[in-house]
Amino acid sequence: MTTKSVDLAHLRSVVLAGHAGAGKTTLAESLLFRAGAIPRLGRVDDGTSTLDYEPEEQKRRESLSLAVATFDDDGTIVTMVDTPGYPDFVAETVSAVAACDGVLFVVDAGGGVGAGLETAVELGRSSRMAACFFINKADRENADPTAALDALRATFGNKVAPLHLAIGAAETFSGYVDLVHRRAWQWDGKAEVEIPIPAELAAELDRRRDQLLEAAAEADDDVLAKYLDGAEVSDPELEACLRKGVKESILAPVLVGSAVRGIGLRALLDAFIRYLPSPADEPATQAHEPKSGDPIAVPADPAGPLLVRAFKTAADPFVGRLTYLRVFSGTLHAQGHVWNATRGEEERIGQLLLVHGKDQEPVAELKAGQIGAVAKLTVTATGDTLSSRELPLELDPLRFPNPSLAVAIEPQTKADLDKMGAALARMLEEEPSARVDRSATGEQLLVAMGEAHIAVIGERLKRKFGAAIVTHTPTVPYRETIRGKTQVEGKYKKQTGGHGMFGHVWIELEANPGGGIEFAERVVGGSVPKNYFPGIEKGVRDAAAEGVLAGYPLSDFKATLYDGSFHPVDSNELSFKIAASMALKKGVMECRPALLEPIMLVSVTVPERYMGDVNRDLNTRRGRVLGMDTDGTNQVVKAHVPQAELFSYATELRSLTHGRGTFTAEVDSYEEVPAFLAEKVISAHRREAEAGH
Ligand code: GDP
Repeated sequence: MTTKSVDLAHLRSVVLAGHAGAGKTTLAESLLFRAGAIPRLGRVDDGTSTLDYEPEEQKRRESLSLAVATFDDDGTIVTMVDTPGYPDFVAETVSAVAACDGVLFVVDAGGGVGAGLETAVELGRSSRMAACFFINKADRENADPTAALDALRATFGNKVAPLHLAIGAAETFSGYVDLVHRRAWQWDGKAEVEIPIPAELAAELDRRRDQLLEAAAEADDDVLAKYLDGAEVSDPELEACLRKGVKESILAPVLVGSAVRGIGLRALLDAFIRYLPSPADEPATQAHEPKSGDPIAVPADPAGPLLVRAFKTAADPFVGRLTYLRVFSGTLHAQGHVWNATRGEEERIGQLLLVHGKDQEPVAELKAGQIGAVAKLTVTATGDTLSSRELPLELDPLRFPNPSLAVAIEPQTKADLDKMGAALARMLEEEPSARVDRSATGEQLLVAMGEAHIAVIGERLKRKFGAAIVTHTPTVPYRETIRGKTQVEGKYKKQTGGHGMFGHVWIELEANPGGGIEFAERVVGGSVPKNYFPGIEKGVRDAAAEGVLAGYPLSDFKATLYDGSFHPVDSNELSFKIAASMALKKGVMECRPALLEPIMLVSVTVPERYMGDVNRDLNTRRGRVLGMDTDGTNQVVKAHVPQAELFSYATELRSLTHGRGTFTAEVDSYEEVPAFLAEKVISAHRREAEAGH
C-alpha cells in the first residue's frame, strides 16, 4: 500500500481528448511506458492496451469509456484521463474535464481538425481549462505536421502557439526543434539525441518562434513591451510567460511527435510538468452550502475541509460499483465515513485505490488534487459531492448531454426478461447520457446518444449482467379520429327464451379536435333511465379503444346520448353498453374517420454554417420551421416535425453536421396524417394483423 505523501505542487492531471483515432490511447500507453509505469507497451491494434481493456473496446479497437492512469514521473504524480473521441461517448469527456486541471488535445498530423476535436475544444474552453495540443502521427504516411499546425491556428486562433517544429514528415519524420530553447532532438533508433539545428529549418524556426513569442507575451505586459520593441526575451522569461499563459488560458502550446515511435514524448511529459497547472496553481473551487446555496470558495488544501467529486461510475458484475473520485480539498481516508451532500446521506468509504488503467493499487488516503477510485459505494451517483458531515459542501451538478435516439427494447428470451430490469438499472448508473422510458404505445424505450452507444449498452448488458436485449424502431403512437358529425342508432336485443337483453340508444357523434373523448347526455322524458348512463359511457369508451381504420385508439370526438328506449324487464347495464359500442362503431364510419400522428416540437442546435443543410433536411421530413434564434454560439432552429420522421434523426443530424448538431424533441400535438401516407400505415397495419401480430 502506497503511503508516500504527495505535495500539491507535484500533481498534474490531464484529460486526453480529440477526434477518435487521433492516437490518444496509444499516446497514453506510450507515456506510461516511457515513465516506466508499465513494463510492456500495450497496443490498441492487437487489443493489449492497458487503457482500452473492456471487451467492447478491444473488439472495436477504440475507447468507449474514460480510463484513468496515474503514474510517477520522477517525483511528479501525473494522472491522465483518456477519453473516447466518438460523439456518442462525449459524456465521458464531460466527466474527465470535471476531474482534471488540464487537457491535452491530440491531433492527427494527417487528418486535419476533426469534429471530435472541435467538440472537445469547446468543452475545454467552456470550463476554462489549461490546454495544450499534441500533433501525433507525424511519422504516418502523408502526415504533414506543419499543415496540421496551421489548421489548428486557422480554427482556434493565434493563441495556439507552436512549441515544437517537426524535423521531416511522414517517413522522414525524425525529431523536433524545441522553439523555446532553440535546440534540436533526433531519434537515433533508441533514444532522442541532440543534433545541430538543421540548416534548412532556420527560417521556419524564426517564423514559428515569433508566433510563439507573440502568443506568450500576452501573458506579461513587460515581456509584451520587450517583444514589441524587438528586444531579446530570455528563455526563463519566455518559460514564465508560457506557464502563466497556459494557466490562464491565454495560449495553448503545440507539441509534435509520434506515439507509436516514441518521438516527442519526453518533451510532452516535461511540458505537462512545466506548463500545466498543479492544483496549487488553480483558483479555489467554487462550492456551495447544500441547504442555503451560499457560495463557498474552497482552496486546494489537504488539511482543508473535505470536498470530493464522484465523476464516473463503472458497473462491474464482480467487484460491484467502482466510483472514480477527484479530491478538490481535504484528505479522503480509506475505511471511513463521508457525507454525500448531494443526497444528504452518509456514505461509507471502503478501500481507496489509485488507478493504473485496468490495474488498481490500494492506498490509505487520497489528498487534495488527487484522482482515484473507491469500490462499492451505496448511495453515491455520478456527479455527486462528498464532504464531511460537519461541513457539508456541494459542487454544481455535471451537465451531461441529453440523449436523443430512442429505440424500443425487448428481452431476447424469457430468461432475459427476469434479469432485464435490474441489469438496466445498474447499467444506467454508468451511463449519464442514457435513460429508459415507456412509450405512449407501452414499449420500453432505451434513449441514448446514437447507434454506437445503444449497441455498446446492449453488449455490456449481456456481458456484465447476462441480460440479452433486442432492439427495434419504436412504433408510432398513431390515433384515429372523425371529421364530421352524425346521429346514429345502436340497438341490442335478445329476447328468445329466458331472461332477455334490451338496450337502445341514439347518439350524436361529432369531431372534437384536440379535446380528447367527451361524453354528454341530453335525454328528455326518461327515454333512457339515468342508471344506464354509466354503462353507455363505458360502451362508448371501450369501443373507442380500437379505431376502425387500423385499430389505433379513437380520440378527439364528442358523443352525446340524446334518445333511446328501454324494456322494463330485459334492459340492463350490459345491454346498453353493447348498444352504445355498436352505435359508435357505426357512427365513426359515417364521419370520415382519419388517422392522426404525433407532432414533435423539435429544437435543433447547430453552428451557423450547417443551418442551410439542417433546414433542407427538416423539409424532407415534413417539418415546419417555426423560427430561428441564437444561443450566443450556435443557431437554434425550432420546428414541428412528425414523430414518424424522427427515428433516425439523431444519426442523420450527426452526419449532416459532422457531429456538431444536437436536438431535443417533445410531443406537441396530434395532426392528421396526409392521405398518401395514411394509406401506407393502414395497409401495413392490415398486413401485420393478417400475419397474426
Ligand atoms: P484514439 O481513438 O485517439 O484513442 O486512437 P488510438 O490510440 O486507438 O489509435 C488509432 C490508430 O492510430 C491505431 O491504429 C494506432 O496504432 C495508430 N496510431 C496512434 N498513434 C500513432 C502514431 O504516432 N503513428 C502512427 N503511424 N500511428 C499511430
